Amino acid sequence: MHEIPVFKPLITEQEINAATESLRIGWLGMGAAVGEFEQHLSDYLGLQDRHLVAVSTGHAALHLAMMLIEACPGDEIITPSFNNIADFQAILAVGATPVFCDIDERTLCIDLVKAEALITPRTKAIIVMDYDCCLADHDQAARLAEQYGIRIIHDAAHSLGSAYKGRKVGTFSDLCMFSFDPVKTITTIDGGALVVRSEAEKQVLHEMRLIGMGQPAAVMYENKRAWTYDVQRLGFRYHLANLHAAIGLVQLTKMPAITYSRQQTCKRYNEHFGRLPLVQVPHSDFNDVTPFLYYIRVPAEHRQPLRDYMKADGIDTGIHWQPGHYFALLKDMPRGKLEVTEQIASEILSLPLHSMMSEDDVLRVITSVTRYFEA
Ligand SMILES: *Cc1c(COP(=O)(O)O)cnc(C)c1O
Repeated sequence: MHEIPVFKPLITEQEINAATESLRIGWLGMGAAVGEFEQHLSDYLGLQDRHLVAVSTGHAALHLAMMLIEACPGDEIITPSFNNIADFQAILAVGATPVFCDIDERTLCIDLVKAEALITPRTKAIIVMDYDCCLADHDQAARLAEQYGIRIIHDAAHSLGSAYKGRKVGTFSDLCMFSFDPVKTITTIDGGALVVRSEAEKQVLHEMRLIGMGQPAAVMYENKRAWTYDVQRLGFRYHLANLHAAIGLVQLTKMPAITYSRQQTCKRYNEHFGRLPLVQVPHSDFNDVTPFLYYIRVPAEHRQPLRDYMKADGIDTGIHWQPGHYFALLKDMPRGKLEVTEQIASEILSLPLHSMMSEDDVLRVITSVTRYFEA
C-alpha cells in the first residue's frame, strides 16, 4: 500500500512539457513567461484597480511588502503567532519587531479585537492571514487600518481562488501576498506574488525584485534586457524566472478543477469527521473557497497517538503550525495573551489533501481516523 503524503503537487505531462519548452526557448531568467503569468493571474483574480508583481517566493513577497511600507527598526508588526515562519522572518529582515497576537477560535485567523488592543504608536502594520478554508475578518481589518493609519498585509498563501463576502481574495486588500511553493494550491516550484494598489508601488517592487535595477519590465517581458539603467534603492534578487512562470501558467488553467476536487474532499471529510464526538472540523461549507489544507482538532492527548495510528496505516499527517513564540529566535518577542493559539497548537492536525485525490486515498484517510476513534 502506498504512503499517502499530507501534500502532493499536481504535476502532469503538461507541466513537464511547459518546462521543457521553456528551456528550449533559452531565455532562462525573468522574461516573457513571467509577464504572461502576471497577466493570467491578474485576470483569474479579476484585478481591476490593483497591480500584481510576481516574485521568487512567498517569503520574498512578504519581505518586499515590509520594505514597501518602510517598516524599520523600532516599528512593530502585529502578526498571529499561529502563522508561517516566512512572515516572522520577513518582519525581522527589515529590523522590525513582530508582536504576537492570538487567533479567533472559530476561524483560526487573527483575533482583531485582541489585535486592536496591541496597537501602539509604533505599530506599522497588521498581518492578516487566511488560515486554510477560513477567511479572516477583512472588513474589520480595513476599519482598523483606516482608524489607526496603519497598513494591512493580507497573507493569502492559503486562500488563492477563495472569495470573501463575494469578493475574490486579492481584489480588496491593502497589500496581498500569494505563495506558489511546492505544496501550495498551485505551484511554480517556488514563487510568490504581491498585489498592490498603485502603479507607483508596482514600480518600486519592480526595482526591488531585481537587486534595485531600474530595468523596465516591459523590455524584460520581451526576453530582452536594457544595458543601461539607474539603481535608486535597495533590492534583492527576488524575481520569478521564466521556467517557473511557465509551470505556473499551466497550473493556473487547472484552478477550476483543483477547486472542485479539493472542495469535494473537504466536504466528505467534514461529513465523516463531524460525526466523531472527539473531533472538531473546520467551520466551512467549502463553497466559496479553494481549500489549501484540511485540518481537524482533536484532544491534545489524542494527537500523537492518532498520528502514530495513521502512520501505521501508511498515512502521513502534519502540524500547521507550531506557534512563532515557541521558537528560540522569537521567544522574547512582545505579545498579547495567546491562550487560544496555545490550545489550538496542541490540538491541530493536518490531514492529507491533494488536488485530484483518488477515491481510494480519501477513503483510506476517512477509515483510519474513524477506526482510531471507534477503537
Ligand atoms: C507558504 C506560506 C508562506 C511562505 O511562502 P513561501 O512561498 O513558502 O516562501 C507564507 N505564509 C503562509 C501562510 C504560508 O502558508
